Amino acid sequence: MKIRSPIVSVLGHVDHGKTTLLDFIRGSAIASKEAGGITQHIGATEIPMEVIENICGDFLNKVTIKDTLPGLFFIDTPGHEAFTTLRKRGGALADLAILIVDINEGFKPQTYEALNILKMYKTPFIVAANKIDRLYGWQVNEKSSFMETFSKQPANIQQNLETQIYELVGILHQEGFESERFDRVTDFASQIAIIPISAQTGEGIAELLTMLMGLAQQYLQQQLQIETHAPAKGTILEVKEEVGLGLTIDAVIYDGIIKKDDQIALMTSEDVITTRIRSLLKPRPLEEIRDSKKRFQKVDEVVAAAGIKIVAPNIENVVSGSPLRVGRGNMESIKEEMLREIEDIKIDTEDVGIMVKADTLGSLEALVNLLKDIDIPIRTADIGDVSRRDIIDAAIVRQEDPANGVIIAFNVKILPSAQEELKDSQVKLFSGKVIYQITEEYEKWIKDTEDQKKKKWMDAIIKPAKIRIIPKLIFRQSKPAIAGIEVLSGTVKQGYSLLREDGSKVGTVESMQDKGDNKKSITRGQKVAMAIKDAIHGKNFEEGDVLYVDIPEKHYFILERELKEKLSEDEFETLGETVDIKRKNEPDWGMQTAY
Ligand code: GDP
Repeated sequence: MKIRSPIVSVLGHVDHGKTTLLDFIRGSAIASKEAGGITQHIGATEIPMEVIENICGDFLNKVTIKDTLPGLFFIDTPGHEAFTTLRKRGGALADLAILIVDINEGFKPQTYEALNILKMYKTPFIVAANKIDRLYGWQVNEKSSFMETFSKQPANIQQNLETQIYELVGILHQEGFESERFDRVTDFASQIAIIPISAQTGEGIAELLTMLMGLAQQYLQQQLQIETHAPAKGTILEVKEEVGLGLTIDAVIYDGIIKKDDQIALMTSEDVITTRIRSLLKPRPLEEIRDSKKRFQKVDEVVAAAGIKIVAPNIENVVSGSPLRVGRGNMESIKEEMLREIEDIKIDTEDVGIMVKADTLGSLEALVNLLKDIDIPIRTADIGDVSRRDIIDAAIVRQEDPANGVIIAFNVKILPSAQEELKDSQVKLFSGKVIYQITEEYEKWIKDTEDQKKKKWMDAIIKPAKIRIIPKLIFRQSKPAIAGIEVLSGTVKQGYSLLREDGSKVGTVESMQDKGDNKKSITRGQKVAMAIKDAIHGKNFEEGDVLYVDIPEKHYFILERELKEKLSEDEFETLGETVDIKRKNEPDWGMQTAY
């Protein structure tokens, strides 16, 4: 048994300082040479404990886990794409995360998205409130601890920082997390620590690393124990061509041991394949690269945690994010286990719903989960580019329900043939590199479509209105009767039926004319000549009469339930009058709600 270093990922919005933070940590590690420098891995950097102790100083005294951990293992590629790609069964590969936020800008779309992903994977994290050196009037104290540099700032600058921190606390609270500035956290199990830092000047980095160690102590005591002789488990970071080596795979190993000549199982977008490792490579130390043309050096075996490059045949179709398993004579059962793992992700779909495409297994899983969170039904979820076949499939689904004729594509290409097909189809495609933005656009589209539908539907509902027959303006007595009228309230449309105040029927509005123009609809204040079908002047109505639009009972129920607030004051009043009129002949009218 051995305790491995916790794997740490840095997440946050673009330009908020992820790369700068990783560079700073790496840089200060390299600088503290006497303490052993850093261990370079493929795709990751391991900071040994001596270096961390060196940077953190006394802050680390209380964190006892420092005596057992070898170090911290930082994934070099920041961002949630790498985070979701690097998954393992049941969660994220990273054991811990740093969510970085520019303190001057606060939460941005990708910050929310990263937070959602951390929530989903239940990954313990701390928040780095970065770029404190950019706060107005901040006085930089390079590489000093936050406590020290903070104590040296003028009171108003301190206050300003506090205000910004509380903005973050407020947002985190809305998102379901309690948080505090790290030195005021009373319970690390229930509060997220916010550490103000500058990735540029190094201020606060000591406390940032200390808090990471504290988080490891809080959550990871068990998780980090590995068997050094067990067959390795890992995740594929990338499949790439390497000059002189051909196709290679970069993998992060989080458990066990992997050796040259080992048999491994890997996943393609369709299947699980097995192959044998030809060589295992790790980066050559910087100082040696100068003497050697080769960037990598061969190794016989590595133990987790490690980032390595693997040369092996038949790996063309292996996908990023694929699990990697070393087998020792039990490849079939490993294959089955891996297939089950893929199914775990794929089965979570429904009979009707939209189509989801993503570039890696992990991002697909994250996307599907985020969509489920906002109750979007998913019919199919697959890895790979959007093809013509996908568009055709979505078009077929669309015939049943336009809302499901949708493809959500994350970080994949839209193949030219698919683009061609898309032009002639009504299928809606939402694609991009930020899950948050894609889902927002999708939700907006859904809302707009529903609003349009609702508006159409609402327009068809007959709303209250009343008119007055203007005295001495009867143009024709009957068949149809034509009279000058004025709208007293609401809107009158062609085809509406009219009632008298005693509840008797007058006839239906056949046509309306205003100075020779035909009108389909007229509103309050307008005066027109109205032809009323089936009405006879002197029998069904008189000059000066006030007539009401007859509202069907069904429409009345809908008005009551959904549209009441939308009515103007005079329409509302007219509705009451109409109800009274209807009840003169039918006392129960509009009483029993049909719903
Ligand atoms: P990423 O997109 O999250 O990886 O962000 P980068 O690390 O590339 O940083 C974006 C920009 O912000 C770069 O120009 C950095 O130099 C700058 N930057 C990052 N951290 C800090 C900081 O703490 N202070 C200041 N002043 N600038 C920073």
